[in-house]
Amino acid sequence: MSVDKKVLQEFTLERDNELRFEVESKTEKVYLTLKSGTAEVFGTELVKAKTYEFTAGAKVAVFTWHGCVVEVKGKTDVIYTAKETPMVLYSNCHAALEVMRVEADRENKRGPIAMLVGPCDVGKSTVCRILLNYAVRMGRRPIYVDLDVGQGHISIPGTIARASGVIINTCGWIKNAGYKQLISNAKAFEVDAIFVLDQERLYNELVRDMPNFVKIIFMAKSGGVVERSKSLRVEARDQRIREYFYGTPKNSLYPHSFDVKFSDVKIYKVGAPALPDSCLPLGMKADDHLTKLVPITPNAGILHHIMAVSFAENEDDIITSHVAGFVCVTNLDTERQMITLLSPQPKPLPNNILVMSDLQFMDTH
Ligand code: ATP
Repeated sequence: MSVDKKVLQEFTLERDNELRFEVESKTEKVYLTLKSGTAEVFGTELVKAKTYEFTAGAKVAVFTWHGCVVEVKGKTDVIYTAKETPMVLYSNCHAALEVMRVEADRENKRGPIAMLVGPCDVGKSTVCRILLNYAVRMGRRPIYVDLDVGQGHISIPGTIARASGVIINTCGWIKNAGYKQLISNAKAFEVDAIFVLDQERLYNELVRDMPNFVKIIFMAKSGGVVERSKSLRVEARDQRIREYFYGTPKNSLYPHSFDVKFSDVKIYKVGAPALPDSCLPLGMKADDHLTKLVPITPNAGILHHIMAVSFAENEDDIITSHVAGFVCVTNLDTERQMITLLSPQPKPLPNNILVMSDLQFMDTH
């Protein structure tokens, strides 16, 4: 459905209704204003009379608990009002977490650690956002942990109030190794609650595999969640990398580009192919191939790859060290033995250990 309206559209939303719209065209902008009543976008309360701008790719839901009138200006690709939403359920989940936070405050314990799981495109990130926004609106400062390696978001800045707890977003990869990863994340973060969006099979597997003290809660997905095609996902990922280096139209960043000698950096890749036991000397056990470090000699294969600049002091620390940030290899000159790096900060690099990722980025800026 294409609604080609440059003119203003006014919507009167009844209580518990949601106005959903999408902006697809790269050249269009859509402006939203709350005229009366109260409304929120993914848990963020709208300020009356303030105009909010949405650009290409935005998929938005304006929800109202008590009814409101909103004005939408600009060309939306889809726009409709939904009467059925799972917002009451999401708000109940928030209320349950808040009860645990109050208890944590009272008993000076740590607050609830909750994890959101489910297949792709069920609204995991959106529910995280709603739960975080509701918590922040109550004066809490929960930590947002984004384990979604596919479509990550920027974590919420702020201080850690011990009782506020943690909300963990995960990836839509929920089968086989992806499922094992979810279980090990749940253990590593010592989660108290897992919210399962949309998939009963996953819910039952978690009930079976998690200890009894972890609450597993099934949640319906919202009918508004928009599926993203593979190409849209790739585009979104590319956009996130571009924003890392160049910022957003409202907040531009100016990255640096400089040459580094091959001999001035040590490049590693994490993970080596698994060796079958039969290839090992008798009595030897294979190292964990997934965390094995492989040194890389600069070659054409590293071109356009994103590399993490590790804080590690030596090779043994790489797996457990933080990273300072990311650079991208934009050129490789074998004659001069130089690589050109795109970097958020000027030369020199904070450390000479680089960890190569599989992610590639074509810098067409
Ligand atoms: P993935 O795991 O595949 O990254 P996800 O399960 O985290 O996806 P989201 O990113 O939360 O899914 O949602 C997908 C898209 O749907 C987002 O662009 C989001 O803004 C949109 N969306 C979510 N809920 C609604 C809603 N109620 N109305 C309109 N759009 C929505």
